[in-house]
Amino acid sequence: MSDMHVAASEKQKALANVHNVQLYIDGRFVNAESNQEFDNTNPFTNEKINSVASGGKEDIHKAALAAKRAFKGEWGNMKQKERLAFVYKIADLIDEHVEELAPLESYDTGLPLSITKKMVSRASQNFRFYAEMVSSRMVGDAYQVDDEFLNYTIHKPVGVAGLITPWNAPFMLETWKIAPALATGNTVILKPAEWSPLTANKLAEIIDKSGLPDGVFNVVHGFGETAGASLVAHEDVELISFTGETTTGSEIMKNGADALKRFSMELGGKSPIIVFDDADLTRALDACTWGIFSFNGERCTANSRLYIHEDVADRFIAALKERVDNIRVGDPLDERTQVGPLIHKEHFENVNSYLEIAKEEGCEVYQGRVPEEYKRGNYVPPTILLNADNSMRVVQEEIFGPVLAVMTFRDEEEVIELANDVRYGLAGYVWTKDIQRGHRVSQAVNAGMLWLNSQNVRDLRTPFGGSKHSGIGREGGYYAFEFYTEMQVVHVALGDHNIPQFGKK
Ligand code: NAD
Repeated sequence: MSDMHVAASEKQKALANVHNVQLYIDGRFVNAESNQEFDNTNPFTNEKINSVASGGKEDIHKAALAAKRAFKGEWGNMKQKERLAFVYKIADLIDEHVEELAPLESYDTGLPLSITKKMVSRASQNFRFYAEMVSSRMVGDAYQVDDEFLNYTIHKPVGVAGLITPWNAPFMLETWKIAPALATGNTVILKPAEWSPLTANKLAEIIDKSGLPDGVFNVVHGFGETAGASLVAHEDVELISFTGETTTGSEIMKNGADALKRFSMELGGKSPIIVFDDADLTRALDACTWGIFSFNGERCTANSRLYIHEDVADRFIAALKERVDNIRVGDPLDERTQVGPLIHKEHFENVNSYLEIAKEEGCEVYQGRVPEEYKRGNYVPPTILLNADNSMRVVQEEIFGPVLAVMTFRDEEEVIELANDVRYGLAGYVWTKDIQRGHRVSQAVNAGMLWLNSQNVRDLRTPFGGSKHSGIGREGGYYAFEFYTEMQVVHVALGDHNIPQFGKK
């Protein structure tokens, strides 16, 4: 089949599942109370795909009441084994729908099909993983105090969890939060990003099919300032897990302060990749290219700052340029495409504005090519910014597109300082064959997650999250239990210990 035919058949698969999207509250698909809707657009052509119910304060209130009722009722009283059976069932149903979900996500977001296929299978893994974690690792501690006391801890679900997610890896990130929230026994209100509603709606359809009791899982689509802000402010919503921009995270924390909300914050990044002169330069080049240009560059852990040792810089940059020239930019529904269009016209304009800033700041902007037939879409070709330095905005600010700032360094001490000289601290990548230096530099970079001689390979058991302005708290593995459960300690007297007898005659 030709490229065009392959993409056309994937498009048919995606379109077969597109209809106007409603909210999912208390086990029913409903319009917003206001009856308002917003348009969802396709980043490949910027044409309207469908209408989406625009939820607001009243819809969040309805969802919160339903979620609270479910928490106090059937779901809250269910045995763990029965609860986890639902979590496994959701995973199985996701697997059954992979063929529909991946094209739908690509159609909605512009992410290449090769990426969305992987993310959808990660989504069912998220559910299975958390079902296993809860049954094997959600355990308490016991503290024996001689023959006097036994003190022990237990984990209890918190209540209604509000989950607010971004558009850059929607289905995977939504399930990354929903799975631990449900497996630990909470009920959920999901507020998906307004630019990527399709797979969130499909997930509601899947969860509806699983037979989960009404009100346990709810989806309220809508804008951040309305649906999102109402979720944060609602008194029955006990915790907010947020993934998105740093400035939004800070706004949400201010809005939730009066209600003393519990927050998990997964925020922006500007992660360094440090390549020493003794590194395996071929593998480092593969990792660097993939780390910034996969996901269309819309990846929180992207290595958007390259620090290359000056002795190998010319060679490495020449090879990088060759990669940029050859990356396949195209239709996201063609599986061979490596870079697709950015999610939305507004984001496209924002990324392009940074390319203008780069020129004003003195960078040489080197770009790949967007084929003529794709000019209607939100395409930014793979781009490298040469002659960059740490004082520039394009090095300090998150661009969130396929744009790599390139800098050189002379020695270890200097590069550690440069790598740490940003407000973000999400991820970092170090390439060297010197094992001692590898550990030393990895530990010296201030970021939540470091990869040494590796691209971004996730191990679901490890803590995920950032330091500095990249986040607060950790999700992933059993670390998620700290956020999604309330830990309680029970102190038990084993004998008749001494109790002061105030007021006794
Ligand atoms: P965003 O902050 O604009 O929006 C994220 C979500 O927050 C959306 O659902 C939005 O509707 C909602 N929102 C906006 N304002 C709100 C408010 N006042 N109250 C409540 N909710 C509100 O982020 P985005 O543009 O969708 O996503 C890109 C950002 O996400 C990047 O900065 C990226 O680095 C970050 N991100 C971080 C991680 C991580 O794990 N650290 C993962 C993926 C993306």
